[in-house]
Amino acid sequence: MTSRHRVLMVGAGGLGSPVLRLLADSTVEHVTVVDDDVVEESNLHRQTFLTERDLGRPKTECAKEHLRKACPRLGVSIVEGRFIPSTAVELLDGHTLVIEGADNLATKFLVADAARLAEIPAVQAGAIRWNGWAWCALPDSACLRCLFEDIPRDRVETCAEAGVVGPVVGVLGGLQAALMFRLLEGDRPGGELWHYHGLEGVLRKTWVRRRSDCPLCTGEIRDLRTERYAAPCAA
Ligand SMILES: [Zn+2]
Repeated sequence: MTSRHRVLMVGAGGLGSPVLRLLADSTVEHVTVVDDDVVEESNLHRQTFLTERDLGRPKTECAKEHLRKACPRLGVSIVEGRFIPSTAVELLDGHTLVIEGADNLATKFLVADAARLAEIPAVQAGAIRWNGWAWCALPDSACLRCLFEDIPRDRVETCAEAGVVGPVVGVLGGLQAALMFRLLEGDRPGGELWHYHGLEGVLRKTWVRRRSDCPLCTGEIRDLRTERYAAPCAA
């Protein structure tokens, strides 16, 4: 059976690494990887397909090289740059779903809005220190704005500042991959929110419902104007 699924992966870091590795064993036909970072020494412990030889190289290039070896049948294209409002619509075009593993909230909201406007599922996650979450938004389920309302206007710590524990992003990336596999199988895990508390060893699932005043779900947000994503937390 030939798959026509095309996945857009935003971020090839701690979350993206396990997702990309597991994606190589899926029925996905093509993956587009977007990232603007180069490999640093502090990345090696949690970005599992990187080695010391990759230091200083763009993460997108490393991901492509790794996927070529792990899964020659998989089509891979890379975009070395950020996922930003002016290119978001074009980047999402032709993709069946988007998986987001960015390290800042502004990009998470942009992915959520762009996926909803494109009417495709978004599988998202975030982690800080020992805690994190992963979830899936479908075009007709709750969205990220139902969950978090909006980008915090106060300064908040990014995961780069607060640090993130390697195994925690490994767990959350694995959960994102599991949500993706379920979507590919025709399941509809929209609104499922997985919380992982690494120190307590607790994994919990809850459901998020649509907020009646959510600007994205009510159709108030109809475009991706840049100022909406200009958050002080963007790293
Ligand atoms: Zn919503």
